[in-house]
Amino acid sequence: MTNRITHWIDGKPFGGTTERSGEVYDPATGQVTGAVDLADDATVDLAVACASVAAEAWGQSSLAARSKVLFRFRTLLDERKDDVAALITAEHGKVLSDAAGEVQRGLEVVEFACGIPHLLKGGFSENVSTKVDVYSIRQSLGVVAVISPFNFPAMVPLWFVPIAIAAGNAVVLKPSEKDPSASVLLAELLAEAGLPAGVFTVLHGDKVAVDRLLDHPDVAAVSFVGSTPIARYVYEKGTQAGKRVQALGGAKNHMLVLPDADLDLAADAAVNAGFGSAGERCMAISALVVVDSVADDLVARIRDRVAMLRTGDGRRGCDMGPLVTGQHRDKVASYVAAGAEAGATVVVDGREGEFDGAAEGFWLGPTLLDHVTPQMSVYTDEIFGPVLSVVRVESYDEGLALINDNPYGNGTAIFTNDGGAARRFQNEVQVGMIGVNVPIPVPVAQYSFGGWKHSLFGDSHAYGEDGVHFFTRGKVVTSRWLDPSHGGLNLGFPQNT
Ligand code: NAD
Repeated sequence: MTNRITHWIDGKPFGGTTERSGEVYDPATGQVTGAVDLADDATVDLAVACASVAAEAWGQSSLAARSKVLFRFRTLLDERKDDVAALITAEHGKVLSDAAGEVQRGLEVVEFACGIPHLLKGGFSENVSTKVDVYSIRQSLGVVAVISPFNFPAMVPLWFVPIAIAAGNAVVLKPSEKDPSASVLLAELLAEAGLPAGVFTVLHGDKVAVDRLLDHPDVAAVSFVGSTPIARYVYEKGTQAGKRVQALGGAKNHMLVLPDADLDLAADAAVNAGFGSAGERCMAISALVVVDSVADDLVARIRDRVAMLRTGDGRRGCDMGPLVTGQHRDKVASYVAAGAEAGATVVVDGREGEFDGAAEGFWLGPTLLDHVTPQMSVYTDEIFGPVLSVVRVESYDEGLALINDNPYGNGTAIFTNDGGAARRFQNEVQVGMIGVNVPIPVPVAQYSFGGWKHSLFGDSHAYGEDGVHFFTRGKVVTSRWLDPSHGGLNLGFPQNT
């Protein structure tokens, strides 16, 4: 019998029945291990109704009370991070150490949100006009929805949930239906930390649930992370319904290697950023843009390193796990075939690897393609798998133009020992997050995460100061306490004296 994974509504597991459910796999065995409830409109409405009631009281709670819950949640999550990681590995497939790493990065945002009393400090100006004071305050929005992708089942929800809750909102999280269990454990830990029922909801589902959340009049804002077509759809539909929306989309991240770079450092970085989490990261490096004079050397160093990687079950101490589903594995493998057919050189072919896991697992080993051109589908499309494409260029300028012509703009990196070149790059590149000799420049919690162009629809990036702004509304109060000096009638526009 498979395990039923149900919603978390009003502070407890959902007691009702479901008409539709989705299969959850263990990607390392290829077996179905769970059946996740897929919410219909009525279940979404119930979840939002409970969240709306909870939001009223929570929005009026003191900052001290909210930060206390977050501090307790931080301790509990830290204590249980291995359990969260185990759930992630069992449903996503990434290796345990990588899963623990994503929980750790999520914890950073929880720690940031613990500082909410400081983060919500407003401004105050005394005597802007005679005996008139002005001050600003930020208030919660009400019910906000978070819709997350399969590739970070804990970290991406934690980019938003702690800040949204700390700011006084109730959150309805719609996690990916491919790996839904980690979010339920987060809900249990938040409840144990003392969060009142209804302030955090987990609503499992697919397009039906997402569409209802986007239409629902009581959902004030939506934070979405996923592929670009769905991000665009969510942004357009949500904003048309009058909601505040931030929708983070897909990526094609380039790493530019200049001839003066430390090639061992660059080779390590390319392997780590290309094949970590089997390339299923929105910040993974998938295009290695190398100045031709050092390309042969760098490709050889990467090939040697890839030969040392062990792909297999994430619970067995391997370097790289399986892909999330069999369908996704087949799609990624088809890109390798298309690249080879279009003339790319297959330096390492992951389709032929040996895997430390069940034969039915969704395996594809690390794959290295050289002489990829910008016209090939392996370059133009976001593949989201362990495929690293080497595109050779003649110069910095040609590399920069390639990156800037790409419709995505999530992350990028430059490898060089020339500070002037790095400085030019950070100024000229049309990308939201940039690494200088750092291949995966995911900002720490006190900065904000977000790409440019087709990698983000909306104005606000995730977490950091942008996160606090996204989950609150500003008010400015102009006040004067009784003083006869400004009395009298005056129909003119207010002027300060
Ligand atoms: P996805 O777009 O398929 O799904 C994301 C979410 O949208 C899920 O919760 C899913 O249930 C829902 N969804 C799927 N199809 C839908 C539809 N037709 N209508 C409404 N909702 C729908 O993405 P995924 O495959 O889960 O995740 C991988 C993608 O996410 C990649 O493109 C990756 O680059 C992107 N991603 C981006 C970032 C970022 O920060 N920019 C971070 C992580 C992942």
